[in-house]
Amino acid sequence: MTSTLEDLRMINARCIHCRACQYAYSGEPDREGQTEEYTGMIQGCPAGLYYGWEGYFNSGKQWIARAFLNNEIKPSKELLEVVEACTTCGNCETQCENRIDTVSVTEALRAAIIEAGIEPLAKHKKFGEMVGNDLLRNPYNEPREKRTDWFAGAKDRKDVKVAYFVGCTGAYRQQHIAKHTASLLKKLGIDFTVLTSEVCCGSPMLRTGQKAIFEDVMRKNIELFKNYETVVFSCAGCFKTFRNDYPRISGKPLPFKVQHTMELVRDNIRSGKLKITKPYSKTVTWHDPCHSIRHVGIAIEKDILSRSNNWLTDARTAEKAKEAWFELPREVMKAIPALQLKEMYRVKGDSFCCGAGGGVKAQFPDMALATAKERLKEAASTGAQVLLTSCPFCVTNLSDGIKALKEEEALSHKKLPGSDLEVVELLQLLDQLI
Ligand code: SF4
Ligand code: SF4
Repeated sequence: MTSTLEDLRMINARCIHCRACQYAYSGEPDREGQTEEYTGMIQGCPAGLYYGWEGYFNSGKQWIARAFLNNEIKPSKELLEVVEACTTCGNCETQCENRIDTVSVTEALRAAIIEAGIEPLAKHKKFGEMVGNDLLRNPYNEPREKRTDWFAGAKDRKDVKVAYFVGCTGAYRQQHIAKHTASLLKKLGIDFTVLTSEVCCGSPMLRTGQKAIFEDVMRKNIELFKNYETVVFSCAGCFKTFRNDYPRISGKPLPFKVQHTMELVRDNIRSGKLKITKPYSKTVTWHDPCHSIRHVGIAIEKDILSRSNNWLTDARTAEKAKEAWFELPREVMKAIPALQLKEMYRVKGDSFCCGAGGGVKAQFPDMALATAKERLKEAASTGAQVLLTSCPFCVTNLSDGIKALKEEEALSHKKLPGSDLEVVELLQLLDQLI
C-alpha cells in the first residue's frame, strides 16, 4: 500500500528538482506542432501556467512535500490552498524521468495537511459532507433515491454478469451520457444492470485529501459490486478511481474486472462483430481525458515495471503497452467512416488537461476556466470543427470554456480561437452512429 505521505517518502526523495515536469514533450523538444505557438518545449502544467509561481508546479509541490515530511514547513490553510490548486492531471508524472508518482504524492500531501488539523477548503468540505451523507452520497446535493431515475431498464439484477457503474455526474448532471452508454451496451449485446445503491466512487474525496470519506465509499462500492464479473464505466474519473486507486489504497486486488465502455467498443470492432456504417463527415480533434487515458496508461507501464526483474528489457515492453492504451480511442475513431482526425500538439501522455479535475472546478473556478480556454485554443489550432472527448467532466468544463469565450467575444467584438468548436462525447456519438 502506498497511500500516506510517509509511505511515499522514498519515492518523493528521488526528486532532484530538475523541473522537467513543468513541460510537455521534454523527450521530444523538436516535435512539430500545428502552429508556431504549439511547437517545441512548451509548458504543460495547468497550475503552474495559471499561477506562474514555482510552488504551484509539481517540482515545487514535491519540495513542499519533502519539507512537510521533514517538519521544515508547518500545516496551514495557505499551504493547503497552494497544493489544492492542481488538477491532478498527471502531465508532470509522464515527464518525470525518475518515475516519481507525482499525483499520489500531491494527494497524500493534501491528506497529511488535513490530518494535521487544517480544515478542507470550503467547497471541498461541502462536497465531502454531501458524499458522507447517507441520504445523498453524491457531491451534487441530489437525493440518493433519484440516482438511477434516468434508467428505464431493470435495476439491481442479480442474474447478469455485468454491472454499469454510472457515477454521480452521469447520474445527475450529464444523464444523456449515461443514457447513450446504456443504449450502446445494449447494442453491443451486453446484458447488464445498474444498481440503485451505487454511491460516489470517492474520486473527489481522494483527490482533495479527504481520505476517511473516500475509504468509506470505496468499501461500500467494492462490497456492492463484488458479485458481478465485470463492472463497466463511462466516466473517466470513476474508471481510474476503481482501476488504479481502489487496489492501491485497499491493498487488495478488486474482486471484479473493470472495463471502460470504449474498450468494449474497440474489442467488438477488432473482432469484426461491430462495423460502423453511418459516416461522420466532420474534422475532429481529440482531447485525451487525463483520468482514463494518461493515468491508466501510466499505471499499465508501472505495473509491468513493478513486476520486472530486468528493466533494460522490460522498459520497452512497458512503454509499448502504455502506447497501445493511448491508441484505444484513436482506433475507435479510425473505424468511423468519413471522420477526419487532426491531432493537437499535446496528446496522449503529454495531453493538456481540460482544467476540471482534482477539486479545481469547484474551488478554483477561474483556473478551471482559464485551463479549458487554453485547451480550446490548442484544439482550434488544428482547424477542427469538433472537439471529441470521453469524460462527462471534460465535456462540462470544455463546454463552459466555450460559453466563456462567447461572452468575452460579445464584450470585446473580437473573434477568439476555440469559441466555434462543438464539444461531443465519443460514447454518445458512437451510440448515434451504431
Ligand atoms: S518530479 Fe521528476 S521531473 Fe519533476 S522536478 Fe522532480 S525529478 Fe524532476
Ligand atoms: S498534476 Fe497537473 S496541474 Fe498538478 S502539478 Fe502536475 S502537471 Fe501541474
